[in-house]
Amino acid sequence: MTVQREIALSREHESILRQHAKKCEPNESCAILLGSDKAGTFSISDVIITENADRSPSTFSISGQDLIRAYGESERRGLEVAIFHSHPASAPYPSSTDRRYMEVNPVPWLIYSNVSGEMRAYILESDIIPLGVKVL
Ligand SMILES: [Zn+2]
Repeated sequence: MTVQREIALSREHESILRQHAKKCEPNESCAILLGSDKAGTFSISDVIITENADRSPSTFSISGQDLIRAYGESERRGLEVAIFHSHPASAPYPSSTDRRYMEVNPVPWLIYSNVSGEMRAYILESDIIPLGVKVL
């Protein structure tokens, strides 16, 4: 597997994700990102807004139906998947729950903090590795 070192997203996609995170307050929000990986940059081409089935301020889960839809779309178009979620009341670092899910889904993870307004990205290899976030 190629290792992604940076996530690149458009200003429009960034704004859609921020608004989604704001709208879901006080709960966590989530989305599936589709993109392609070239030379260490995971470029996001699609943002698929999903519902947080947990409706929780400290966890999220994407419904099986949304996952099937997004993975189907990614296969059909030859795109890779990344996962977005927000932390309404904490910093944009993976929680211990996130880490467990990252083990199951070893794709790039983008986390937005409603508190600091920062977006940060990570991927789990043998440990959690931070990725750069570039807004184009
Ligand atoms: Zn989290």
